[in-house]
Amino acid sequence: MTTTIATTDALKQSKIAILGYGSQGRAHALNLHESGLDVVVGVRAGGKGWTQAQADGLRVAEPADAVKGADLVAVLTPDMVQPALYAEAIAPNIKPNAALLFAHGFNVHFGQIKPRADIDVILVAPKGPGALVRREYEKGHGVPCLFAIEQDASGHAREKVLAYAAGIGGARAMLIETHFAEETETDLFGEQAVLCGGATELVLQGFETLVEAGYKPEVAYYECLHELKLIVDLLHEGGLAKMHQFVSETAQYGDLTRGPRVINDETRTRMREVLAEIRDGRFAKEWVAEYEAGNGNYNAMKQRDLAHPIEQVGLALRARMPWLNPAGA
Ligand code: NAD
Ligand code: MG
Repeated sequence: MTTTIATTDALKQSKIAILGYGSQGRAHALNLHESGLDVVVGVRAGGKGWTQAQADGLRVAEPADAVKGADLVAVLTPDMVQPALYAEAIAPNIKPNAALLFAHGFNVHFGQIKPRADIDVILVAPKGPGALVRREYEKGHGVPCLFAIEQDASGHAREKVLAYAAGIGGARAMLIETHFAEETETDLFGEQAVLCGGATELVLQGFETLVEAGYKPEVAYYECLHELKLIVDLLHEGGLAKMHQFVSETAQYGDLTRGPRVINDETRTRMREVLAEIRDGRFAKEWVAEYEAGNGNYNAMKQRDLAHPIEQVGLALRARMPWLNPAGA
């Protein structure tokens, strides 16, 4: 179901605890506060989030204290720290019939958190980073949100999830109903196959192909990395139609005849494998084990990525394009 009709009424008398004050936490807390709701930010005393939330004019408390008495607890810390936070600060303190809200379904869907049976479990996932959720709200708009209900102990989970989505501005744009499985699996697939994993590999393979054929790394950088933004912006703003409208006929002919040779049936087979590993929990199991083992492989792979020659070339070229990183941005 798609809905845009939602108000904050169901949370008007509620106390809302926002745990974590990062990308999403800050945006949600400020938007809810300015929507007239009672917000307390649960952060570690003396931490960066504590100082910033206070400077933003919000009430702060240690996570466990913020949870006590709250009618809705939003868990907006990094996914991997949520299970310990749930066990230590939330489960012992959350009121019966209160709502536990997530912005990503990972921990609930993959059983890393097994919420108490006497609380509501809901999800509001804005389709954009926190900075955008905040900026659009300030302009009087909102970012579309997915919402879902996993557990309805109070009988009022639906009113609460819609009110929260309205409070952060999502209802000004669009609210799309989903379920924890769909949100979690599609989010992971998107970032692995297309957005983070797929796009960066495409860039690197293209860059390496040109450099190995003897072309200058600087020229390869422009063709394979820098200009990607122009195309992505066209797709983002107006889909395939706008992209076709703004690139040359030669580019279109090359796209239509060569694109499907680069990204082909073999790629589709790999995408299906990646999706299968997400759906049967193999990816989640691997990532949780890696995190618990201290992230040795993760850090090594990231280091290799950052040591790629494209990074050196990029650093030098971007230094001559100051408009890419305006001061204060
Ligand atoms: P983030 O890394 O930007 O911020 C996390 C915050 O949690 C920080 O303020 C950090 O200091 C705090 N924190 C860390 N450990 C803590 C602990 N033990 N106790 C209390 N606070 C702690 O995180 P984020 O990107 O805003 O992600 C939060 C949630 O939102 C995640 O579930 C994520 O999947 C989801 N989400 C993120 C985005 C996005 O664009 N960033 C979009 C949709 C959903
Ligand atoms: Mg996502």
